[in-house]
Amino acid sequence: MSSRRKFLAQSAIGTLGIAFGNYACANKPGQEPMGSSEPVPTVLSTWNNQAANEAAWAVAGKGGRALDAVEQGVRTVEADPEDMSVGYGGRPDRDGHVTLDACIMDETGNCGSVCFLEHIKHPISVARLVMEKTPHVILAGEGALQFALENGFQKEDLLTEKARQEWEEWKKTSEYKPVINIESHDTIGMLALDQQGNMAGACTTSGLAYKIRGRVGDSPIIGAGMYVDNEVGGAVATGLGEAVLKSLGTFLIVELMRQGMSPQQACEEAIRRIISKQEGHKDFQVGFLALNKKGEAGAYSIQPGFSYALYQRDENKVQEAASAL
Ligand code: ASP
Repeated sequence: MSSRRKFLAQSAIGTLGIAFGNYACANKPGQEPMGSSEPVPTVLSTWNNQAANEAAWAVAGKGGRALDAVEQGVRTVEADPEDMSVGYGGRPDRDGHVTLDACIMDETGNCGSVCFLEHIKHPISVARLVMEKTPHVILAGEGALQFALENGFQKEDLLTEKARQEWEEWKKTSEYKPVINIESHDTIGMLALDQQGNMAGACTTSGLAYKIRGRVGDSPIIGAGMYVDNEVGGAVATGLGEAVLKSLGTFLIVELMRQGMSPQQACEEAIRRIISKQEGHKDFQVGFLALNKKGEAGAYSIQPGFSYALYQRDENKVQEAASAL
């Protein structure tokens, strides 16, 4: 994936138009045609992850299972050294270690997660194995690594030269604070709805750049970074994980949709809760995406600048979400 900063710079001229169009008709790209009861295969992901959507669409849009789609989709980002917030090439913690968090959830409500995992390029696939091969939901740190190695994953050095150099530069000031809408918030969260009408979700990240060693964010926590209930829909989060954890935002969004809210309304309410309860919200970003079983999508963030990619009816579009501030 090209960096989001580059994308935003490239699209700066068109941003107003996109933002206006999106605000005025936030649900339209994901709206089901009137009278249709057929599932509308859909892939929805955070930021400008169109390439990841392509990989997922090759599965979900072609008769495959949503679970396989989200795994294949986010793996493309995990393998991309240019994406410095996910998998290989991710920025390290303050001690120079790349530590990864990921989770996955299927249409039956099964889920798996790994957190504080080092040396494995595809944490999402380890999370899937935790779901499918163990009676547990979360494996962490050394134990997660041991489990991955026992199951045939290769131990790799995930710190690229570029990430190492940036970290060396960072150490000169060692200033630790979340920066709004720069690549330190580049987590991919993805939801897919397949032709059978089943939904799955995945979320994978290297977390906040230069975090304290051992820090785990929202991304591997079911109901925080991602949640799916196949009766209702799903949601994913990106941004400051601590803020999402305090609100269990994606679980909240799915429950709000269950009570009748549209995906857009549910995302807006979840952001409103964070804003009303978390005083520092002006200084950080959180973005939510939601998808219901009809294929209707929603997107909302605290700050401007949160983009998302929606693949539906053979169109794979990046759009900017409406925001509260
Ligand atoms: N939510 C992720 C975390 O806090 C970061 C991100 O979305 O970029 O670990």
